[in-house]
Amino acid sequence: MSDEIEQTIRKFALQNAVFFKGTANPKAVVGKILGSCPDLRPKAAEITPLINQIVEEVNAMGLEAQTKALEEIDSSLLVKEKKERKYELPDLENVNGKVVMRIAPGPSGPLHIGHTRVSILNDEYVKRYGGDLILRFEDTNPEKIDPDAYDMIPEDLDWLGVKCNRTYIQSDRFEMYYDYTRKLLEMGHAYVCTCNGDDWRKLKENKQKCPCHDLPVETQLDRYDKFLAGDYQDGEAVVVVKTDICHPNPAVRDFVALRLVRTPHPRTGEKYIAYPMMNLSVAIDDHEMGMTHVIRGKDHLNNTFRQEYIFDYFGWKKPEYYHYGLVNIPDTVLKTSIIKQSIKDGEYTGWDDVRTGTVRAMKRRGIRPAAIRRYWVESGIKPVDIEFSWQNLYGMNRDIIDTDANRYFCVGNPVSYDIDGVDVIEGAAPKHPDHPERGDRKFKLEAPRTVFLADEDSKLFENDGKIRLKDLCNLEYGKPAKYIGNDVSILKKGVRAVQWVGSDAMDATLVMPDGSVVSGKIEPSIKAETNDMVQLERIGFVRVEKKDDKSVSMIFAHR
Ligand code: GLU
Repeated sequence: MSDEIEQTIRKFALQNAVFFKGTANPKAVVGKILGSCPDLRPKAAEITPLINQIVEEVNAMGLEAQTKALEEIDSSLLVKEKKERKYELPDLENVNGKVVMRIAPGPSGPLHIGHTRVSILNDEYVKRYGGDLILRFEDTNPEKIDPDAYDMIPEDLDWLGVKCNRTYIQSDRFEMYYDYTRKLLEMGHAYVCTCNGDDWRKLKENKQKCPCHDLPVETQLDRYDKFLAGDYQDGEAVVVVKTDICHPNPAVRDFVALRLVRTPHPRTGEKYIAYPMMNLSVAIDDHEMGMTHVIRGKDHLNNTFRQEYIFDYFGWKKPEYYHYGLVNIPDTVLKTSIIKQSIKDGEYTGWDDVRTGTVRAMKRRGIRPAAIRRYWVESGIKPVDIEFSWQNLYGMNRDIIDTDANRYFCVGNPVSYDIDGVDVIEGAAPKHPDHPERGDRKFKLEAPRTVFLADEDSKLFENDGKIRLKDLCNLEYGKPAKYIGNDVSILKKGVRAVQWVGSDAMDATLVMPDGSVVSGKIEPSIKAETNDMVQLERIGFVRVEKKDDKSVSMIFAHR
């Protein structure tokens, strides 16, 4: 066996030993060698005994000698490779050149975390293949529109890094929906139904057509003219697309395409009273806009089946449809109507209230768009239902913000202590433990050496009799407190180390996830901080929302 192979084995055996406290595992070493050196794979049987022998030799060396030997071979081997998990979305089927995809929200309010999935997935694919990403406002229910949403949604998408290059508003397109509906009526694929809604549904349940279903086309068109002209009251007539009245899935049997609504529309006022239902307008638009691929939630599966009838009646080429699983987002207020009411009632501060799951709230809390993107890319587009995990999202956010987030001391509900028994106290703490090059926050306390502790730490101090002020000194309880040196080993005796700030501290407020606001004090070096995310030691990551010479307001992000 060549020396070279022996050397390779030795290198991997040493590395495995160093990573595992001096004892290499022969099986792991075999795996690693065969994994990294494909040319050795055919020789597996031959080299395994040799690997076992070398591992035994290496294990006899002891950790120190192993480390030294590995360092001599290549010191970079001493560092464990960070396992970079890379998730990629699967390829789309039938991509011929570029794709056309869309995000189609109803403008009832700004976007929330639930909407971000469809937004990110579509954006990822359009970025992968090139083509168009369409933003389509589906505002065909005048009762569920917040006029501000037409501006808020593009702002939210922009912040998410989702790039839509074409925008359409369905309320601009009613005439076109009416024209296509007329064609469906002419072809005998639709009818104007004047039955009582409940009767019509009952008949459908029993696979039976209603009396309007088979009326002659001329009658249908007559009724349709009256329908558009406003001769029927709301609820008195609807236009229905025929499917298969015996379809095994009752939800797919004949569906309503147009209904009458006399509530004025925020954009078109009273100009139109015939409102398309989503299956009509979505199918027509997906065709008209040249959609190649549609990604939507599994909750739209029956809608896809319905819309496919319209495609078939007109002989249109269907997009490829993908239905991802449902997402349960726990402990989060998402319903726009509820948020809107709570804002009106003065309970929520606005659409970005931290208690809501809106994109605005996440932005305010310092959740980065890249974390949200990673979350949904890792979740994929499979039809399995999932439970959304805030903890996982926070973990991904932490990975992104941690390097840039400098550390600061901040105490809530501060209690003051003067310190006796010393003249001047000096100390320093790194802005970031992993980045010494950023320098230290320097502390200097002069008479009367006032410090503030968080109220719960003050109680702890009183109870324990001793406490360590992190990166400064140790104290014995009293008013004033007594300086007892700066020996860190005091921690070994069970004394606790706590955050503190000096008399030069700035006022601070921190909005917590439940909406409560904690008041406190923060060390003044935060004044020069340029990043919006910082870590308050022992509290967690927070976003600095506002800052002036005397005070700082912050929003809690996560631990
Ligand atoms: N407006 C619908 C929604 O946001 C459209 C979805 C779709 O057609 O895929 O749920």
